[in-house]
Amino acid sequence: MRIGIDIGGTKTAALVLDDTGATVGHVSAPSGRGATQVLATAVDVADRAAAAVGGWTSVTHLGACMPGLVDPTTGWARHAVHLGVGSLDLAGGLEAATGRRPHVDNDVKAAALGAHHSLGPDAATGTTAYLNVGTGLAAAIVHRGEVVRGAGGAAGEIGHLPVGSGITCTCGQEGCLETVASGTALHRMWPRPAGDLFPAAAAGDRLAGEVVATLARGIAVAVQVLVVTGAELVVIGGGVARDRAALEAALAADVTARAAASPFLRRLDLVSRTRVLDGDVPVAAIGAALLPGRTQPVEAVV
Ligand SMILES: [Zn+2]
Repeated sequence: MRIGIDIGGTKTAALVLDDTGATVGHVSAPSGRGATQVLATAVDVADRAAAAVGGWTSVTHLGACMPGLVDPTTGWARHAVHLGVGSLDLAGGLEAATGRRPHVDNDVKAAALGAHHSLGPDAATGTTAYLNVGTGLAAAIVHRGEVVRGAGGAAGEIGHLPVGSGITCTCGQEGCLETVASGTALHRMWPRPAGDLFPAAAAGDRLAGEVVATLARGIAVAVQVLVVTGAELVVIGGGVARDRAALEAALAADVTARAAASPFLRRLDLVSRTRVLDGDVPVAAIGAALLPGRTQPVEAVV
């Protein structure tokens, strides 16, 4: 059995995969705040997940992921702002509590691995990107089953490509892609609850239509960047991607309109290379479970 722990901004989940890659257990709890509580919650959900499958002696592999800078080599996590974690020895703390040395990684990188393997065996040799449209905008790329890290782990940080929006970004630059394509951008542009956006746009609300168009353009540009840098398929997840059908339609509308004047863009075939995840698929926890050396792809879920 493998256990993958996904420490998210609001929820911490532990998922159990059996040796065939099938999900056989899932436990979650509200995430703690601060290093001590974050770790205690992760240990608690992992303990309960292990207990449900016969105890820690049944568990052969343990992985964990969380937001922020996570060093897979040292096992330390840093700068997880929304969890109130400055620094945390994530691997060391989990090892002390469970007796298992876990593999740890950043949550978007783990989610990319989970998304890649969730595509089934046919995708296992290809290059998949996972684009997370959450509070911020970040991507990770999996090539032949391995997460591409790049210089200082920066591969996939496309949210901070300056594209000229004129808005100052949290990273200190101006006009980053994240300032038009993220939950933070949506919150700035749309005064009503986020869940109202796509229904309002469909009902003809002018502001909602403009916000959807801006958001879709930014996400489509992110997809385009990932495809021209080698991704054969881009899987989109995150809080802003909850309304799967509406987001897919908005992305297709943006790409189709631009492609009408561009044979280059038509050749990229972005629409067929884009999948919006079903919001219920726990790709980060699946990826965390698969971090400690993979055996085979899990059953196809996207
Ligand atoms: Zn930025």
